[in-house]
Amino acid sequence: MTTALITGVTGQDGAYLAKLLLEKGYRVVGGVRRNGRDALGRLTALGIAEQVELLPFELMEYTNVRHVLERVHPDEIYNLAAQSFVGVSFEQPLYTSEVTGLGALRLFEAARVVTPRAKIYQASSSEMFGRVTVSPQNETTPFHPRSPYGVAKTFAHYSAVNYREAYDMHISCGIMFNHESVLRGTEFVTRKITRAAARIKLGLQTRLELGNLEARRDWGHAPDYVEAMWLMLQQDTPDDYVIATGETHSVEEFVKTAFEFVSLNWRGYVTSSPGQLRPADVESLCGNPRKATTALGWVPQVLFYELIAIMTRADLQREGK
Ligand code: NDP
Ligand code: GDP
Repeated sequence: MTTALITGVTGQDGAYLAKLLLEKGYRVVGGVRRNGRDALGRLTALGIAEQVELLPFELMEYTNVRHVLERVHPDEIYNLAAQSFVGVSFEQPLYTSEVTGLGALRLFEAARVVTPRAKIYQASSSEMFGRVTVSPQNETTPFHPRSPYGVAKTFAHYSAVNYREAYDMHISCGIMFNHESVLRGTEFVTRKITRAAARIKLGLQTRLELGNLEARRDWGHAPDYVEAMWLMLQQDTPDDYVIATGETHSVEEFVKTAFEFVSLNWRGYVTSSPGQLRPADVESLCGNPRKATTALGWVPQVLFYELIAIMTRADLQREGK
């Protein structure tokens, strides 16, 4: 039986990846932080909370990371744990660098010592491209991160490449563009919008305050993206892959579509407030996933309009209860 360790198993991607690996017959061990809230909500929502072995895991703590590897001896490691919200990274730049940047390096270093033959997936991000001058972006596009989160992910990405080259470790990076789902955190713009559209429709909320409506993203569906993570670790050779849909849409288009789904005109409810703007923003991202399609056979199944329908429908059901 193949054993996988998923760091960040309580997050959006961790939950979908755990489900995928359990379906494939893996033993799945998940690293969980101790905190006061219901950390297992997403695993419970997918009906797999009982099937994932949970261990206390903290990326800030090298000895803990190392002990977990010694105890689990995973064949595959998926490093999904991170302070993953760009907005908060401006408020907590040092903490974000510690967890999202140095945390990844702690894991690679512990793996080098304890499980050097384990295959590792590193969750890199399109935020590394940041201020882009070419579109669409692929694996050769230069990085110009625009936030402490983007900078930390770039550090982690180069650390992964360095450990691959220096120690011949099987570390692959998915340069993933934004991916969303019904399990997405409500602080991210997509889920903030679909939840608000549902709540306004149901009379539970009257307004929605957003920031930059002109920002453009390449939004895909998280369950499709975790499939790509697994595919990367089934290859003989480690590599980096852009994972994206190849379509780009603005935040305004997202709002308009979600509100149309509940038969409302967004203009009556949505404002753009300076308080929601970031000190620096990524204006436009669009990925070219050709390499992943050719080398891994990966093709995104859910695109923009279907994604919004899935998310808004789920929020209507949730909020209507
Ligand atoms: P989430 O924010 O939903 O999940 C992050 C996970 O990391 C949570 O389980 C969280 O635990 C855990 N975590 C945070 N800090 C620590 C820490 N110090 N030690 C151990 N665990 C920690 O992110 P997603 O699932 O959306 O994303 C997964 C990964 O992919 C992240 O690294 C993200 O940056 C990256 N990524 C995501 C993209 C997206 O669009 N979703 C795009 C590109 C990259 P807890 O539940 O306790 O908070
Ligand atoms: P990101 O791409 O990882 O930063 O994902 P987000 O969902 O947080 O943000 C996507 C884009 O939406 C960014 O350009 C934000 O500036 C923009 N945006 C506009 N209004 C909001 C808002 O109210 N919340 C968030 N999170 N983002 C917003």
